[in-house]
This record gives sequence, structure tokens and C-alpha cells, in this order.
Amino acid sequence: MVEIEIPENHPRKVSLEIREKIIKGYSTHEVATAGLLAHGRGEAFDYLIGEKTNDFAKQAIAVAVAALLSAHHPVISVNGNVCALVPEEIVQLSEITGAPLEINLFYYRKEREDAILRALKSAGAKEILGTHDKPSEIIPELKSNRRKVDPNGIGSADVVLVPLEDGDRTEALKAIGKYVITIDLNPMSRTAVYSDVTIVDNIIRCLPLMVERASEMKITPHDELLKIVENFDNEKNLADSMELMKTRLGDLSKDIGLLRQKKLLGANE
Ligand code: ATP
Ligand code: MG
Repeated sequence: MVEIEIPENHPRKVSLEIREKIIKGYSTHEVATAGLLAHGRGEAFDYLIGEKTNDFAKQAIAVAVAALLSAHHPVISVNGNVCALVPEEIVQLSEITGAPLEINLFYYRKEREDAILRALKSAGAKEILGTHDKPSEIIPELKSNRRKVDPNGIGSADVVLVPLEDGDRTEALKAIGKYVITIDLNPMSRTAVYSDVTIVDNIIRCLPLMVERASEMKITPHDELLKIVENFDNEKNLADSMELMKTRLGDLSKDIGLLRQKKLLGANE
């Protein structure tokens, strides 16, 4: 594979570097073809939120971490894109919160599962659930391969983090009573609107912040964590993210010159 060197001063350097990670994950079989398309959809929404972690996302991150830390049995679901973009950080978050990692693939291929296993292990993961050599339980209502869950993982979890998730599966997880946290740049996706906590941010920026928050909040008393979770309003959180997009588009549409001056990012600051 040809690796592309992106010049330091390129206006879309960070975005292009993230894209390179996904392409690399595709060439090593972690990422499915549909994963490339999902990434592009995420990029479009990242433009709209200014490619930065906004206040609504920071608040949702704190709530997500509080929910993971106060859960009886939290689990983190990993797919190809998550593994290609943030392998080290997802392993760190799993360790700090005590939430095991479970591989869950929409487009299952043994080759993909093996590639993801390899990448997570080299990122430091000790135990990984959901692999096909383990016994599996079925989520009723789901028809795809992802209906299989690990009885020691998502099967018995009370809180699940499902980043970059498909809407069918999120609905199914809600139907069987799970508290669902997601990371999704599109606040209008079915996953975003069915989840209990939606972090509208790029997983690349969000995961390091989650790891940092989890280390800080690890000593927070249990009843305080529960209060943080109870006081959260995800509909307001989603509405705030849409308001930001609306305001940014309103400002930019009045002065397209802002875009030429490379002020697309942080135009509301
Ligand atoms: P849904 O099935 O929830 O209605 P969808 O079919 O549009 O949504 P999927 O491909 O099923 O989308 O799920 C992937 C989701 O992940 C999309 O909403 C996409 O915007 C989001 N996404 C992609 N890349 C990233 C990223 N790097 N960070 C955060 N979210 C991302
Ligand atoms: Mg979908």
C-alpha cells in the first residue's frame, strides 16, 4: 500500500490522516467495504460541527463515563472502524472502567475477526469477548450476524458502549433492556436517537477524552455517578448538536468568504 505524506500546512491534514488510518485498516482486513462509506458519512457531519469536541459532547462524555463506572457489568463493543481508528484508547478505556471488549461484526468474516483480534492484542488487550470460538447467545429481532452476542459480555451486560453502531442493532439492544451509550457524528441516525447517551463527536477526538475523564472519575462516589447519569437529558443533548450545526450553517451562508479564509473550523468561537 502506498502511504501518503500530507504536507504540514495542508488545511485538511488531520482529516486526511484519519482517512489514511481507515484505508490502512481496510488493507489489513479490519475494516469492511461498508465501513469506508460509514466513515465518509461521519466526515460530512464532522464538517458541520466544526471538527472539534463541542460542549454538548464534553457533557455526554462525562455522563457516558459515569454510566460505565457505575454499571454492574459494562461492556464495550468493537467493530472494524473502531479498531482501525482508536485501538490503544479503546483498550485503555476498557481497563480503566473494567468493561470488557466484545467484537461484533455486521459483515462477519473469519479473516476480519482475526485481524481485529490481532490489532487489539497488539494494542494491549488481554481478554476479548464475542469471538466465534466462544458460546453465543442470540438477540431476538435481529437477523444479521450481529444477533450473536457473548453471554459473558453483552448478553449479561447492563450498560453497553456501542460506538459507530448500526440502528437496527441499537434498537434491538434497547428492546432487551440495555442502557446504550454511543459515539456517533450524525445526531439524526437511528443509533443516535435510540441511545440513552449519544456523544456527537469524532471517535478519534472523543476516546482520548473518555480515557482522561475515566481516570479522573474513578474515585467519584457511586451515588454521585448515578446522579450524573440520572440528570442527563439526551434529547436536549441531540437538540444542542443540531442547533450548533444550524447556527454554523447560518453564519457561513451569510459569508462564504469565511470558508475561503479557512475559517470553516471553529467559526463560532
Ligand atoms: P443508523 O443505522 O443508525 O440509522 P447509518 O445507517 O447512517 O445510521 P451506520 O453505517 O449504520 O450509519 O453507522 C455508522 C455511524 O457512525 C454513522 O452514523 C456515521 O455518521 C458514524 N461515524 C462514522 N465514522 C465516525 C467517526 N469517526 N466518529 C464518530 N461517528 C462516526
Ligand atoms: Mg445503519
